[in-house]
Amino acid sequence: MKKRTVLISGASIAGPTLAFWLHRFGFEVTVVERADVLRLGGQNIDVRDEAQKIVRLMGLEDKIKAANTGELGVRFVDKNDTIKAEFPKGVSSFGTTELEILRGDLAQILFDATKENVTYIFGDQIIALDQDENKVDVTFKMAAKQSFDLVIAADGIRSTTRTLMFGNEPVIKYIGVYCSYLTIPRIETDTKWAYWYNAPGSRVINTRPDNEGTTRASFSFLSPDNGYEKLDLAEQKEILKQKFADAGWQAPRVLAAMEMANDVYLDGISQVKAPRWTTGRCAIVGDAAYCPTPMTGMGASLSIIGAYILAGELSRTADHKEAFAAYEKILRPYVEDIQNLPPGVPWIAHPKSKLGIALFNGVLGIVSSKAVKKVGKLFSGKKKKEVKEKIKLPQYS
Ligand SMILES: Cc1cc2nc3c(=O)[nH]c(=O)nc-3n(C[C@H](O)[C@H](O)[C@H](O)COP(=O)(O)OP(=O)(O)OC[C@H]3O[C@@H](n4cnc5c(N)ncnc54)[C@H](O)[C@@H]3O)c2cc1C
Repeated sequence: MKKRTVLISGASIAGPTLAFWLHRFGFEVTVVERADVLRLGGQNIDVRDEAQKIVRLMGLEDKIKAANTGELGVRFVDKNDTIKAEFPKGVSSFGTTELEILRGDLAQILFDATKENVTYIFGDQIIALDQDENKVDVTFKMAAKQSFDLVIAADGIRSTTRTLMFGNEPVIKYIGVYCSYLTIPRIETDTKWAYWYNAPGSRVINTRPDNEGTTRASFSFLSPDNGYEKLDLAEQKEILKQKFADAGWQAPRVLAAMEMANDVYLDGISQVKAPRWTTGRCAIVGDAAYCPTPMTGMGASLSIIGAYILAGELSRTADHKEAFAAYEKILRPYVEDIQNLPPGVPWIAHPKSKLGIALFNGVLGIVSSKAVKKVGKLFSGKKKKEVKEKIKLPQYS
C-alpha cells in the first residue's frame, strides 16, 4: 500500500516530534524549515509531565538528561544580591525541573533522531496551499510545486502557514508582558543557580546558567501592546536600554553585554487561541496552534504531547477527518486548562513599587521556608495534579 505523505512546516520542537512519530507509524514525512539551518538559539525549557513519558518512548530521555543545563534552582534576590527566597530544583512547578534543557539542544536531539528517515528542506517555506478531497497542492517559495496527503503547520506562534490555512481566525492574545532573551558572557560570580531580580516599575531581570560556559539572561516588563516585536533589532535594543538603565542589580552588566550579543530576541508574550486546529487536509500543532506562553512552563511539553497525539490518531485510521476530530477532542480540554492563566499573572510576579517588591519577596521567603511546593500555585494557579488529570496519554501501536 502506498505510504501516506505528510508535509510539516517548521523544524523546532513540534515539527520534528511529529515527524518522528509519523515516520514510526508508517508515513512518508517531509519537513520544510524557513531558516537556512536548524535554529539552535533560545534558553532553558522544560520537558515535563506527559511529555517526559513521550521522550522516554522515543528513546531520548537519557540524551535530554545528559544535555541538562545543570541549574540547581531559582534564587530571588534584591538589588544588593541578598537572597530573599530559594527554590531548589524540582520543588516547585514553576522553577527548575528535572529535564531542563536549552531549547537549541532539544531541537538538535529531535533533529538527529529524525534526519535519517525524514526529508528535511531548509531555507524554504510554503507560500500557497490548494486542497481538494484527495490532496493538498503546495507551492514553495523555492522548491518545485508538490502534492501531499496532509500538511501540518508547526511553525510557531507567528506561523504564516497557519494564515494560509485559516486566515486570521486564530487570535494571538498578548498577555501584557514583553520578554527579551539573550546570551551573555559568564563571569566568576555566576553560579549554577538561576537568579530572579525585581526592579521597581514592574521590571524583572533573570540570569541562568547553561551548559555551554555562558549565561542566559532575560529582561521582562509589563507594558501595553506597543508592537515592539515589529521593530528592528537596533530599535529593540534601544527600548531595552531605556527601560532598564536605572533598574539596578545586574542591569548594567546585561545591557553592556547586549551590545555584543548576537541572539537578542524581544517579543510580546502571547497565547494562540484557535477555535479549530484542522481544516480539510491541513492542521496546526505546537505553538502555532495553542502557544500557552513561557509563563506556564509548558510550551515545549505541550508541543511534544500535541505532536504525539496528532500522529497517533492519524495512525489509527485512514480517515484523516476522524483522526483530526480525535486530536482536538483529546487535547483541547488539556490545552484550555494550561492556557487558563489565573488572575494576577503576569502582574503578580512584576510588582510596581518598592513596597510591592518587598511584599512579593516576603511571601516567597515564607513559602520557600515552609511549604515550598505551594509556590507553584502562585504562578500556575493550579496544582500540577489537577492539570495532569485532564489528559490520559493514549497508547498507539
Ligand atoms: C530560535 C528560537 C528560540 C526560542 N527560545 C525560547 C526560549 O528561550 N524560551 C521559551 O520558552 N521558548 C523559546 N522558543 C519557543 C519554543 O521553542 C516554543 O514555545 C515551544 O518549544 C514550541 O515549539 P514549536 O515547535 O511549536 O514552535 P517554535 O519553537 O516557535 O518553532 C517554529 C519553527 O518554525 C520555523 N518557521 C517559522 N515560520 C516558518 C515558515 N513560514 N515556514 C517554515 N518554517 C517556519 C521557525 O524557524 C522555527 O524553527 C524559541 C523558539 C525559537 C524558534
